[in-house]
Amino acid sequence: MLEQLKEEVFQANLELPKQGLIKYTWGNVSAIDRDKGLFVIKPSGVDYETLTAEDMVVCDLNGQVIEGKLNPSSDTPTHAVLYQKFPKVGGIVHTHSTWATIWAQAGLDVPAMGTTHADTFYGSIPCARFLNQAEINQGYETETGNVIIETFERRNIDPMEVPGILLHGHGPFTWGKDAKSAVMNAVVLDEVCKMNLFARELNHFAETLPQRILDKHYLRKHGTDAYYGQK
Ligand SMILES: [Zn+2]
Repeated sequence: MLEQLKEEVFQANLELPKQGLIKYTWGNVSAIDRDKGLFVIKPSGVDYETLTAEDMVVCDLNGQVIEGKLNPSSDTPTHAVLYQKFPKVGGIVHTHSTWATIWAQAGLDVPAMGTTHADTFYGSIPCARFLNQAEINQGYETETGNVIIETFERRNIDPMEVPGILLHGHGPFTWGKDAKSAVMNAVVLDEVCKMNLFARELNHFAETLPQRILDKHYLRKHGTDAYYGQK
C-alpha cells in the first residue's frame, strides 16, 4: 500500500543527513495521501545506512499504525495532529538542525531579515511556548502538535504562508505541499537562522526587512500573480 509515497518519504528522509540537517537519527519526514487519509513516516531510530523504502510505516490520522513491521517515529502523534489541523499540508519534517535549534533554545521568533527568508516564509517564524506539566503527562507528542496549532491560531498566521515553527528549547518543525518541499523549507529555515545570527552579531541593530520588500519577494513566488521561475 502507498508504495510510491513510501519511496518519496524514504528519499526525503535520506535528504536530511545529505543536507547536513541531522546527526544520527535525529529527524523524521512524513507525507500524506489525503484521499486515503493515511500518512507514511520514517520508523523510529533505524540507521540511515540500513533504512529502506519498505521500512516506512503507514499510519492513520490518529497516529495508529496501519501497515509496517517497525515502530513509527516517536514524533508520529505530532505529525498526526498537524495533518488533522492543517488540511493543506502534504509533508512534514522535524529535525534538530543546529542553527534553527540555536534560535529555538534562545526562545526567539525568527524575524524576516533578508529575501532568502521572504522567498519562502511570509513574515516571522514563530517560536512556540514550552509545554506545561499537565500537557506532558497527557501525551507529550500530541500536545506538542496542539501547541503548534495554538501558536498559529493565537497569532493568526496561515500555516501555508509560514510553513514552519520552532519549539522552545527543542527544534524546528517545517511542512509543505509534499515531503520534498517540507525538506526544502527545513533547509531554508536553518540557513536563515544562521544568516540572522551572524547579521545580528555584526550589527546588533540590523533592521528586519521592510514590509514592501517582504511582500515583493514572497508574492512574486507565491502570490496570485506569481511570476518567479518557469511557467
Ligand atoms: Zn525532536
